[in-house]
Amino acid sequence: MRTVRSVGDLRQAVATWRRGDHSVGLVPTMGGLHDGHLGLVRRARADCRRTVATLFVNPRQFAPDEDFADYPRREAADAALLEAEGVDLMFAPARAEMYPDGFTTTISVPDLNRGLCADSRPHFFDGVATVVAKLLIQCLPDAAYFGEKDYQQLQVIRRLARDLDLPVRIEGVATVREPDGLALSSRNAYLTVDERGVAPALHRAMVRTVEKLTGGAPPPEALARCRDEILAAGFASVDYVALVDAETLEPLDAVDAAGARPARLLAAAWLGNARLIDNLAVT
Ligand code: AMP
Repeated sequence: MRTVRSVGDLRQAVATWRRGDHSVGLVPTMGGLHDGHLGLVRRARADCRRTVATLFVNPRQFAPDEDFADYPRREAADAALLEAEGVDLMFAPARAEMYPDGFTTTISVPDLNRGLCADSRPHFFDGVATVVAKLLIQCLPDAAYFGEKDYQQLQVIRRLARDLDLPVRIEGVATVREPDGLALSSRNAYLTVDERGVAPALHRAMVRTVEKLTGGAPPPEALARCRDEILAAGFASVDYVALVDAETLEPLDAVDAAGARPARLLAAAWLGNARLIDNLAVT
């Protein structure tokens, strides 16, 4: 596996592959890699002849009071994992390569960048959209792979690629979980041993809620009960539990039993220093 740090070197490598008619898959990450990220890499490897993974902790998606400084950074370990998975090239730019002096453009995807996670992180999705648009344009892969775990983010990225006519397939990959149901996340490292024991309660409450909703329970009661169960399990607070249209993320007050309008249950809750998110298909 080669590591490159400049957009020019990335483009040169991709251009060489293109001359050989090789397809290219892109897996953007912020590092702190775990099996969830590696699931994306495996999908890219299965679909494409060449795989590029990116490692960049994007400052524009962190608010000043968030965990940018503490975010896990272990490039050598991440590189070893990517190499073992057969990744061809790791793009690990410095901040100044992505955001040189004078950088001013923001990519914004209303209305998907509002509500849900944006209520507590108002600048987050513009930061994500801007860096992902840059990475897609820098690499111009055939396909780029993103986790369903960050469901609102996935919808923002699908929309920006469509709206900007980027010639890239956006592929969503199912959430990889621990055996007890907890979605893998770099931020799970913030959990104490006790909190780690409590954490799967988020997923468990959501599974029960999906069962209730598909069984015909009225959403307002089912969502309120889900919130209660998460708090009763030991979470400190719940940012949201929401039933939304799976594509537009508009709130739904009913589940379409025929499945004509797919719905998604999304939740975010705080446990110690970690804000955990999860989501499940409802229909
Ligand atoms: P991050 O490094 O946290 O920004 O995540 C990079 C990519 O990995 C994003 O597309 C995430 O959605 C995806 N990802 C993170 N955790 C998981 C997981 N547990 N299952 C599947 N994909 C994931």
